[in-house]
Amino acid sequence: MSIGPTLLPIFEQLGIYDEFLTIGKYLTHLVGYKETLVPLKPLDLRPVEEFTGYGQYIVARPKLYDLILKQIPPHKIHFGHRVLNITEKDNKVAIHLSNSDTIEGDIIVGADGAYSAVRQRMYEQLKTEGKLPKSDQEDLPFCCTCLVGQTKVLDPEEFPIVAEPQCNFSNLYGDDKPFTAAMEQRFRNSENSEWGDHPAQTMCEETRNLPIQLLDGKKRTLGDLYDQTPKEFISKVMLEEKVFTTWHHRRYVLMGDGAVTAMHDAIALANLFYAMPAKTGEDITRIFEEYQKERLPAVTESFNNSRQLAKTAGRGIVGAIILYLTTVIPAWLWRIALVIRRLADDQESYSVTTILRLNKHILPATLPIIYENLQPPYSP
Ligand SMILES: Cc1cc2nc3c(=O)[nH]c(=O)nc-3n(C[C@H](O)[C@H](O)[C@H](O)COP(=O)(O)OP(=O)(O)OC[C@H]3O[C@@H](n4cnc5c(N)ncnc54)[C@H](O)[C@@H]3O)c2cc1C
Repeated sequence: MSIGPTLLPIFEQLGIYDEFLTIGKYLTHLVGYKETLVPLKPLDLRPVEEFTGYGQYIVARPKLYDLILKQIPPHKIHFGHRVLNITEKDNKVAIHLSNSDTIEGDIIVGADGAYSAVRQRMYEQLKTEGKLPKSDQEDLPFCCTCLVGQTKVLDPEEFPIVAEPQCNFSNLYGDDKPFTAAMEQRFRNSENSEWGDHPAQTMCEETRNLPIQLLDGKKRTLGDLYDQTPKEFISKVMLEEKVFTTWHHRRYVLMGDGAVTAMHDAIALANLFYAMPAKTGEDITRIFEEYQKERLPAVTESFNNSRQLAKTAGRGIVGAIILYLTTVIPAWLWRIALVIRRLADDQESYSVTTILRLNKHILPATLPIIYENLQPPYSP
């Protein structure tokens, strides 16, 4: 997955930035190819690095998980337990697990993905009370199907591209085909995937002859990479897109989906609890309200950006225009756009990115009152 300036300042504050650099591969350009392997003008990511002080990196998901997990005392995380039910009693909330254990707490934070069990329990209650907006009652819409896989470690003799010091991230836009291929290192396991066997294999067969550019002068196809990929490391995933508008109810609160936005959500919520110690149900409600007020605009913006980006992989006229613009806009225009964006951020928003240092040397101009109690490194 791709990690860059929106998370790296946080990693630095956590003291894991240097170790992260040893597992990530530095990325400076995104390169698109037509099916004829004619390259489009690469998208240069360096203006963002100049502006923020942080580069962009591709990292294998299991390695990133391991790095983050190492920071947390093992006894604080219990693996392999499924939440089956949630109940509330005497200002406490309890989760009931598949191993028959019950764990009680003051609040429950649902960080359990697109089909969150916590959200479903919470929404059932809100629906019964007639408080769930209609848009939140609708199912998650699927926008595309994604075949995702991770090759075994490739031999640099056979695939010299992997020995290069910088990461090559390339997209191939199929002519008159419903496929776009993106090549980097990433991997995901979810309930919504169809592992290994038939569905993924069928899609592999449909796409294995798509040409790819591995910069070694050889005629390559996606099939060359499929042949280097263990079947259990391939899955077909239905990608869904939706921003729910109800994020909390009584002692329930939700966070995610979106790897970067999920981490920003977690920081925003933790900061609020830190700044406003909660004693009563009213305190908790106020924190949750502040949390949603802070995060919903950023999440909505991220969702809209992601939709725009997805259009470049689509076969419509809008996608073609966006793709054209992203490849012809000169770097100086990116720089101006970034400065304008920064000024707008400082004036109107107190999202996580503004609390954190956008540039290693520049602190945000304003902090909301709610963060006044925060200690360094978050204090203004
Ligand atoms: C191919 C692909 C590439 C991607 N690349 C990127 C990228 O480069 N950058 C990026 O920002 N995002 C990327 N994303 C999106 C990103 O992976 C997701 O948005 C992100 O993982 C969502 O995080 P989450 O914590 O909300 O949910 P999830 O990652 O889905 O985690 C939810 C967790 O909850 C657990 N869980 C679910 N139900 C229960 C239950 N009842 N009891 C107990 N546990 C439960 C699950 O086992 C899982 O561990 C990519 C997605 C895909 C499919």
